[in-house]
Amino acid sequence: MSSPASSGSPVSIDTLLAQGAIAHDRESGAVAPAIHPATTYARDEAYRLPSPRVYSRDDNATTEPAEALLAALEGGAGALTFASGMAAAAAVFQTLAPGDHVVAPRVMYWALRGWLLDFGARWGVAVDLVDTHDLDALRAAVRPGATRLVWLETPANPTWDVTDIAAAAQLAHDAGARLAVDSTAATPVHTRPLALGADLVMHSATKYLNGHSDVIGGALVTRALDEPWQRLRAHRRTAGAVLGPFEAWLLHRGMRTLAVRVRRQSASAMHVATALEGHPALAAVLYPGLPSHPHHAVAARQMAGGFGGMLSLRVHGGAPAALAVAGRLRLFARATSLGGVESLVEHRASVEPPDSPVPKDLLRVSIGLEDPDELTADLRAALEAR
Ligand SMILES: *Cc1c(COP(=O)(O)O)cnc(C)c1O
Repeated sequence: MSSPASSGSPVSIDTLLAQGAIAHDRESGAVAPAIHPATTYARDEAYRLPSPRVYSRDDNATTEPAEALLAALEGGAGALTFASGMAAAAAVFQTLAPGDHVVAPRVMYWALRGWLLDFGARWGVAVDLVDTHDLDALRAAVRPGATRLVWLETPANPTWDVTDIAAAAQLAHDAGARLAVDSTAATPVHTRPLALGADLVMHSATKYLNGHSDVIGGALVTRALDEPWQRLRAHRRTAGAVLGPFEAWLLHRGMRTLAVRVRRQSASAMHVATALEGHPALAAVLYPGLPSHPHHAVAARQMAGGFGGMLSLRVHGGAPAALAVAGRLRLFARATSLGGVESLVEHRASVEPPDSPVPKDLLRVSIGLEDPDELTADLRAALEAR
């Protein structure tokens, strides 16, 4: 018994997600996958294994539905889940060789930027950080023959700069480099980087993919089952940053509502951003869906059906004013992370290092599934109180 989504016929992402890209259980007819906590797999008398699985650091049946669904969503040839988004990203850099050159965004997920600079210095991988949305700057940074990897994050956390993936892929490939995209904020609902020319897509599955703020996980999806992908597979097996079976099950279950969650969050973010743009207490509303956003045209081209659920507010009066606004919010939890069903607010400068390029007056907002008018009213009240 199998679902239409697993029968090989092309289907929309809504249908894929709803059906989870899984076959119904042959014995019971169960429509949800089972959780396999086993760490090892027994052989028969002739020392044969019943499946290719040997040990669950290598392969675990519970991670397979989430990986199959991710590969289908991104239009990739394969997917790997990891213990966290950072583990997924780190694996990409750790499978480079000393002497390789990497170009990455100046403004990106801060923990990855920090780790990458430290890793590069220790492992002899040269790292250049540039504004990747500025294609001239990107072109100047890429060194033909030496650059192995161009890393993008779009929209980029927490300024939501948008990089043209197709143009960056062309630039990278012309120089003999591969293109990887951290697509955590865009999600496969709005952007499919592989179709735009990327070689690899990375997600912090902790965020929108799982969507319920109760799993730490990461994922990579590849365009081709090529040599770099085989190296990544081998790396995960041996370095061992695998997703646990319970987390993998929750991730797969969470993903089945991805499209409805993300579309609603994007519509609400657009509603909030539009309502607050020009507010006298704000220096800027950063949201790629606003026509005033400097990269709106690129965003409109490469993001289908919405611009994501993340926006940032720059508050007049610097860090103290931003912190005071965050303190007055009633519907937004003051917490790091993003992409869950509940709205969150975070003063990034409080958690980033002093040399961070992120403005001190910036509040990052993750729009959840609450009523968008109530969220807007809460933000207005916090901006207007004195
Ligand atoms: C959260 C996040 C990461 C890191 O993922 P973890 O699951 O927290 O390890 C990487 N990139 C982006 C854009 C993120 O938001």
